[in-house]
Amino acid sequence: MYKVPLLINGEFVDSSSSSYIDVTNPADNSVIAQAPCATSQEMDQAIASAEAAFETWKEVPVTERARLMMRYQALLKEHQEDIAKILASETGKTFDDAKGDVWRGIEVVEQAMNIPSLMMGETAENVARGIDTYSYIQPLGVCAGITPFNFPAMIPLWMFPMAIACGNTFVLKPSEQDPQTPMKLAELFMEAGAPKGVLNIVHGGKDQVDPLLTDPRIKAVSFVGSVPVGQYIYRTATANMKRAQCFAGAKNHSVIMPDANKEHVLNNLVGASVGAAGQRCMAISVAVFVGEAQNWIPELAERISKVKPGLWDDKNAGFGPLISPQAKERVVSYIKKGKEEGASCLLDGSDFTLEGYEKGNWVGPTVFSDVTTDMTIYKEEIFGPVLSCMNVDSLEDALEVVNANPFGNGTSIFTNSGPAARKYQRNVEVGQVGINIPIPVPLPFFSFTGWKNSFYGDLHAYGKQAIRFYSETKTITSRWLEGDIPGGPNLTISMD
Ligand code: NAD
Repeated sequence: MYKVPLLINGEFVDSSSSSYIDVTNPADNSVIAQAPCATSQEMDQAIASAEAAFETWKEVPVTERARLMMRYQALLKEHQEDIAKILASETGKTFDDAKGDVWRGIEVVEQAMNIPSLMMGETAENVARGIDTYSYIQPLGVCAGITPFNFPAMIPLWMFPMAIACGNTFVLKPSEQDPQTPMKLAELFMEAGAPKGVLNIVHGGKDQVDPLLTDPRIKAVSFVGSVPVGQYIYRTATANMKRAQCFAGAKNHSVIMPDANKEHVLNNLVGASVGAAGQRCMAISVAVFVGEAQNWIPELAERISKVKPGLWDDKNAGFGPLISPQAKERVVSYIKKGKEEGASCLLDGSDFTLEGYEKGNWVGPTVFSDVTTDMTIYKEEIFGPVLSCMNVDSLEDALEVVNANPFGNGTSIFTNSGPAARKYQRNVEVGQVGINIPIPVPLPFFSFTGWKNSFYGDLHAYGKQAIRFYSETKTITSRWLEGDIPGGPNLTISMD
């Protein structure tokens, strides 16, 4: 059985751990690899290697750091399909979706290539007579990243390229459910010329995450995953005086106004709700139909019913299986609960199975209507191919529903009315808004700006905010003496 290595000080090493976690093919739950739970000695070695590498990496000129990212971007593009095959085999994502996962990560590396201009400070001349002030952006030291299963290429690439381009070194603890994809990313990073120790990778679960939250050598922690783990990581990392940015769960609403283009709405909602089996933090899980638009719900369910789950290399498959038997059990139990609590189940994917792959984690597309805010399927994140449709009378009612929801990752509005769109964009308490765009994930020259229970912290992923997160600002105030030196000590705050 293939044992996934660790990456410590530039070497891909087999762990000496006696504890391993099975990595499975979600289509049939066969074991395809095993990920070690790194020992405490290996955790220490990974952090020590990052700490030692920081001393030399921080001295590498910013232009050379940018060139490393350029070589890395070229290698990632060249190997996009190889990475996507590994990714699809351990997540079950369709091949096209897997390629998209890699591509979104490549775009962040492209942003990291701009590091020389992104890390420029500010200057002001003659802030007092003969005095100038200027600032430099300097790296922090060792940063850590903890990533979820659902984007095993994109989300590690949100983190380590930006941190490392800033001059930091990095310890990554990827999801134990699909660790082979990040290892392939790491292989290419080493091939691009990353010096030893700049990127280290450890595997495991909570026991391997905890040292990253408490070790004083680590200065900043980036996390993406579920709400309870995100809250735990934010609290623990900040209690240990570290910077933390924790991206958590979601419940994303799409508001459909009756003046919207019906074809556009229906086509877009199909992919946004059940694409990737709904295992996207920006998936649309609630569609809020305003007034007459409610008449479109049966046709939407009809279109969603045509999406067939299948194997990653089946070109006709709309999406793949869920990541694990536990994920399937959770989603099926939500579907049951939705029926018990009185929602109308227009399409039920609970019993779906793929012939020949009956042991896989399959759930078919599922659509509920008449969902209300007191139902469990509305209140909790399902993270499966389940769309909940709700009815409201007006845009104001829709805004009230969305703003009362504790999550704030993404939302969208479909309308042909500029005033309606502007009212929604301005008043909705959600960090990423799409107008006639179902899943509004910003490209990496902006930042990924979830709000409320979808994000704990201040500075978000990628874009300019990532530079701020992974750096310190040093501000210098300078005077060069010329001619006569003013006499005597000054014991007050100078006013000029
Ligand atoms: P998860 O929280 O179970 O795991 C995420 C990471 O935390 C993994 O590396 C895991 O090993 C580690 N972990 C798990 N339990 C831990 C514990 N008790 N203590 C410390 N570390 C622990 O999340 P997941 O199931 O892998 O991913 C799905 C979740 O991620 C969903 O809730 C989804 O909404 C969220 N997500 C959010 C975003 C975003 O940008 N907001 C993006 C992608 C995924």
